[in-house]
Amino acid sequence: MSRPSFESIYINLAVELSKRSTCSRLQVGCVVTSADYTQVLGVGYNGGARGQKNCCDTSEPGNCGCLHSEDNCLIKVSSGPEVPKIMFVTHMPCSYCAKRIVNKGGFQRVYYKDGYRSEAGKEILSADGIEVIQF
Ligand SMILES: [Zn+2]
Ligand SMILES: [Zn+2]
Repeated sequence: MSRPSFESIYINLAVELSKRSTCSRLQVGCVVTSADYTQVLGVGYNGGARGQKNCCDTSEPGNCGCLHSEDNCLIKVSSGPEVPKIMFVTHMPCSYCAKRIVNKGGFQRVYYKDGYRSEAGKEILSADGIEVIQF
């Protein structure tokens, strides 16, 4: 009997969540779980402020003003660095989100599906000892 791995289940959940994004530039979804995969600690996708207009602030590339999915997800994670965590995200984190992930603490690995135009985020995560794995 073949059954899906937790990694595949959670990366697929991140893909499903990305479909809720209203960003016109890129739809990104994110899930944070406990390191043993038994608990979902937070979910997120990129977009604007809760209950407010569901569109980008500007159409200028790289400056749409949407909160990034990882940032939105980390806001939901209530536990601190003492809890070992894994992140699943549809796109490799940017350098800003990578810094947020490092400073949140407790992350062991980040799984991502698609690459990003810059590898700077990967370097920031790796320098902190966080494994970055394309899945
Ligand atoms: Zn946007
Ligand atoms: Zn980001």
